[in-house]
Amino acid sequence: MKKSVEDLEVSGKRVLVRCDFNVPQDDEGNITDDRRIREALKTIKYLLDNKAKVILCSHLGRPKGEVNPKYSLKPVAQRLSELLGMEVKIAEDVVGQSAHALADALQDGEAMLIENVRYDAREEKNDPEFSKELASLAELYVNDAFGTAHRAHSSTAGVADYLPSAVGYLIKKEIDVMGKALENPERPFVAILGGKKVSDKISVIENLIDKVDSLIIGGGMSYTFFKAQGKEIGTSICELDKVDLAKELLAKAEAKGVRLVLPIDNVVVQEFSNDAPSQVVSSDAIPEGWQGVDVGPKTVELYREVLKDAKTVVWNGPVGVFEFDNFAKGTNEVAKILSELDGATTIIGGGDSAAAIEKGGYADKMTHISTGGGASLEFLEGKVLPGIDCIQDV
Ligand code: AMP
Repeated sequence: MKKSVEDLEVSGKRVLVRCDFNVPQDDEGNITDDRRIREALKTIKYLLDNKAKVILCSHLGRPKGEVNPKYSLKPVAQRLSELLGMEVKIAEDVVGQSAHALADALQDGEAMLIENVRYDAREEKNDPEFSKELASLAELYVNDAFGTAHRAHSSTAGVADYLPSAVGYLIKKEIDVMGKALENPERPFVAILGGKKVSDKISVIENLIDKVDSLIIGGGMSYTFFKAQGKEIGTSICELDKVDLAKELLAKAEAKGVRLVLPIDNVVVQEFSNDAPSQVVSSDAIPEGWQGVDVGPKTVELYREVLKDAKTVVWNGPVGVFEFDNFAKGTNEVAKILSELDGATTIIGGGDSAAAIEKGGYADKMTHISTGGGASLEFLEGKVLPGIDCIQDV
């Protein structure tokens, strides 16, 4: 088990905390969604309350190893100051004189930020020299940036070679909830996988097929599976080079007794746009020249039936082109069904599925909404995440 922030003696110590402050901004640099900053507060407040000297770090955007004011963390420092009700100073550099001067002057129960770690080209190379320089700012290291935990960079992994380390509350929850679901789920365990391409989800499907009782496959991916079943799919999105793989996965599911649930009806259009005239057709009857953009109402009912007794549910990826309001119904219905499940652990992978849950106002009904899209996908693939692996065990 990985050490958590509560396992460290933090009082009076300088603690380097890797957060994910990669927030969206408008053209003037105003933060348009501060959720990532708010989510980081629990760990930061714990450290401040326990009299640590808190040195925060993060990346923001892709400055490609160069100092660029467009990617400065100054707006984050300001927002943090407002949220914490105390001044959070920001250094002018990452590991230079300014960062060291501020870190040395830091008092117990105070917090500061260093500049964007990606201002230094060594960060993304996980350069040991840069990791050492980061480590020299502090006495302890806490990683709470799940969104970058699948990257082996200096601030997300390398630095842990030089300091006693622990995970913050955000990563701890990801490990506790998602880790348990994958290792020791309460059953029935149902996974819902959607999204555009089979190729992006192969490893997740392969990993989950060994663990779940039912696997719901929806979205653009379905059509490659339909093709594998010999169905006509019109102009629906399809990866011809993955049809054989889809056949293998169908056979594997059958051999393992996993119920693989594909859509039974589909909303189809002739033109890929929100206002295109649409019709609902059975999966055996997709007309020539038409493409599937959402699951149909019978499929939603099938999902309801498969999910009704589930005790653990993992959802990653929309079951339709949910960016188009007219074809977001299937995805929104999945969100609603999950919100109504009684006594089930519901885990939402980051990205689009999380957006659908938020949009429907169901966020507080879910057990866990992962804070990292790519990272949660790799977690579901059963991969070791460098940002977690680097942390000391209890
Ligand atoms: P992913 O990033 O793999 O989770 O895929 C998400 C994307 O899949 C979204 O942009 C959806 O619009 C897209 N998507 C879902 N269903 C379909 C479909 N039937 N045809 C085309 N794209 C789809």
